[in-house]
Amino acid sequence: MTISQLSRKNVQALTPYQSARRLGGNGDVWLNANEYPVSPDFNLSERIFNRYPEPQPEAVVKGYAAYAGVQPENVIVTRGGDESIELLIKAFCESDDSVLYCPPTYGMYAVSAETLGIAAKIVPLSAEFQLDLPEIEKNLTGVKVVFVCSPNNPTGNVLNPADLQRLLEMTTNKAIVVVDEAYIEFCPASSIVKQLKNYPHLAVIRTLSKAFALAGLRCGFTLANPELIAVLQKVIAPYPLPTPVSDIAAQALQPQGLAQMRQRVNSVLTDRAWLIAQLNAIEIVEKVFESESNYALVKFQDGEKVFKALWEKGIILRDQHKALGLQNCIRITIGTQAELEKTIEAIKAV
Ligand SMILES: *Cc1c(COP(=O)(O)O)cnc(C)c1O
Repeated sequence: MTISQLSRKNVQALTPYQSARRLGGNGDVWLNANEYPVSPDFNLSERIFNRYPEPQPEAVVKGYAAYAGVQPENVIVTRGGDESIELLIKAFCESDDSVLYCPPTYGMYAVSAETLGIAAKIVPLSAEFQLDLPEIEKNLTGVKVVFVCSPNNPTGNVLNPADLQRLLEMTTNKAIVVVDEAYIEFCPASSIVKQLKNYPHLAVIRTLSKAFALAGLRCGFTLANPELIAVLQKVIAPYPLPTPVSDIAAQALQPQGLAQMRQRVNSVLTDRAWLIAQLNAIEIVEKVFESESNYALVKFQDGEKVFKALWEKGIILRDQHKALGLQNCIRITIGTQAELEKTIEAIKAV
């Protein structure tokens, strides 16, 4: 037996998540991972590294709870939002249960389920990228965790609040509903967090990777009622957050950090409007989808051609050609004004 043959069958069959970094590229303009284009500046204040860190660093939990408008007992801090996805499946799915998700959407729901050997039911979004509730309802048997994403990556739209409420109603006492709000800072009024008090089976995923400009930190959160949080506490690693991570996360959640985050959001919204207007005036652009996030999904006449031409010029975008229903689509992160200008010029030159 080779080492790979010794690994679990589902691991043998696994295609790892095609992260932006893994896909490579030789660029000087990186608009493929929905990062903020400029790093914030922090100094480490913690100097004690010989001790294990706090399992759930109090300053981060309290800071995030205050920011999100919930109580500290509604918060668990994780190693990025991605760890939250895995913890939820680990904690709630027996080997013969399934998860359900609605493509085109974030790829990690599929990858985490496959890694853990949990089957997935796939109910595509409608043509308007909204939930297909009748199909979801028909497919709920055996489903323990439903993943939805709002604003949805890569389409950029928010899900209808009434649909989310219907989804929560139809899953009561059956399954956990996970609403992934990685991009909610770009449209804070659309958050479902206010519904936590009504639904013990609702879990909301958040992250510092997007509007907080801290993707390198690997810090995320799940917000839920205390009973659900306690279940996740059972399966999380003993010391998930390195001391320097919680040190910086706590600073980012101070009033000054929050004010900077909101400034960043405002500049992204301004730049997004500029980018979309420019794109709409280009002949080879077929459609720019409405976005509530820090990226825009664009359909071209020939998406592959545009993607490759910009790749050659060191402008790295995210190809969505293979995503369900997104032929010829490319996702463009809102970078700096200079990066966006370069991108527009390069697209015009195709
Ligand atoms: C970026 C992202 C996450 C989480 O990212 P982390 O860097 O692991 O916090 C979760 N969901 C979606 C939809 C994302 O785009």
